[in-house]
Amino acid sequence: MEFDTIAAISTPMGEGAIAIVRLSGDHAIAIADKLFRGIGGKRIKDVASHTIHYGQIIDPKTGQVAEEVMVSVMKGPKTFTKEDVVEINCHGGLVSVNRVLQLLLNNGARLAEPGEFTKRAFLNGRIDLSQAEAVMDLIRAKTDRAMNVALGQMEGRLSKLIQKLRQEILETLAHVEVNIDYPEYDDVEEMTHTLLLEKGAYVKEEIEKLLRTSQQGKILREGLSTVIVGRPNVGKSSLLNSLVHENKAIVTDIPGTTRDVIEEYVNVRGVPLRLLDTAGIRETEDIVERIGVERSRQVLKEADLILLVLNYSDEFTNEDENLFKAVEGMDVIVIVNKTDLPQAIDMDKVQVLSKGHKIVTTSLLEDKGVDQLEEAIASLFFSGSIETGDLTYVSNTRHIALLNQALNTIEEALQAVNMGTPIDIVQIDLTRTWELLGEIIGDSVHESLIDQLFSQFCLGK
Ligand code: GDP
Ligand code: ZN
Repeated sequence: MEFDTIAAISTPMGEGAIAIVRLSGDHAIAIADKLFRGIGGKRIKDVASHTIHYGQIIDPKTGQVAEEVMVSVMKGPKTFTKEDVVEINCHGGLVSVNRVLQLLLNNGARLAEPGEFTKRAFLNGRIDLSQAEAVMDLIRAKTDRAMNVALGQMEGRLSKLIQKLRQEILETLAHVEVNIDYPEYDDVEEMTHTLLLEKGAYVKEEIEKLLRTSQQGKILREGLSTVIVGRPNVGKSSLLNSLVHENKAIVTDIPGTTRDVIEEYVNVRGVPLRLLDTAGIRETEDIVERIGVERSRQVLKEADLILLVLNYSDEFTNEDENLFKAVEGMDVIVIVNKTDLPQAIDMDKVQVLSKGHKIVTTSLLEDKGVDQLEEAIASLFFSGSIETGDLTYVSNTRHIALLNQALNTIEEALQAVNMGTPIDIVQIDLTRTWELLGEIIGDSVHESLIDQLFSQFCLGK
């Protein structure tokens, strides 16, 4: 396949000071060569592959120096796109990076469409579709941990698993075919039956396992949805502030205030939290009053973790008790705040109502107890069902939808076998399952689907 040479600004993760312009295509090296002036007249077109060079980008029209740069030269096929790739690192921020990009476009490169680099990697056979989508997740990944998951997927873990399942189905279909071809044996029907039930159950189980990981994948990508609840004035806003200030707030394009609640992303000991506070509401109101019992129940129900705040220097009230009821059955950490003031709360009562939930005492005013709270959050997260190890997480909506469909068809196949349905009907269901799994890794997908997927990518990837 031959493509023209594309260029785009490739935004690095985080807020690094270095911006990269990436070029890919047959003329990548020639175009870069026109603009680059190296030390002692070094030319990009003469350097070895996979090397980095310091120099200047000049405007060939005027001969003026546009930018000081580091240029990486990588010849295909050992590159992300399998094409010749040149990356120009500028440390001058957005203005200078734009200037370099403009020069490249004036000298033969075309501006890449969103996701076009990844699309090329896919079209050139460098990666399969689920890996391509992992790149997209990687771009969106908000924390290191989420990034590891995305990377793991990029290495093809999910692909391997899916391929293994497809292989099983294919072998089963082959066996059934052979059995059908030799109907003279008495026990063939029985054998086919047993085989289908066995293999079908295995495939079903594996798909279910994958689907179970999808919730965890979502949490890792979007953060553990954490709601801070408590009566007015107990210290909810103070808690949000200290968690945000003590931890690197995760940069997000989501505005700070949403609807009735304030939302902040923080990284607590590697646990991504999406903190929801009711502090957007006037201090004298609480979330239940403001948005109504039903609506607040809904907010609570969608939460992965509840931080329930009580006031150490106040008596335990009915309202506190109602909050405990509202969060029953959820993951809760109880925070008894204002321990710098004289005690008025009945800790025995707190203990009883907490029903084994972790209780942490804090004085947010004196900055005490926050460490213990963070510890509690981390241990809840890591000792729970969410593993840090090398599980394969399914976190992509399209994958989840396809897995659900595959689950349905394999269940239909199993049901058909049990009901004594003719084998060719069962074969159709099995083949359909095989196809659906194939769509996850990009076998048998239509061009339009591919285009749609890649257009979602950020520019420069
Ligand atoms: P919210 O209404 O639950 O969001 O509570 P705020 O965080 O706005 O705090 C209410 C008041 O309690 C503020 O004046 C805080 O400074 C104060 N406060 C918060 N935490 C503590 C604490 O640990 N000790 C004391 N003495 N005051 C606190
Ligand atoms: Zn508040």
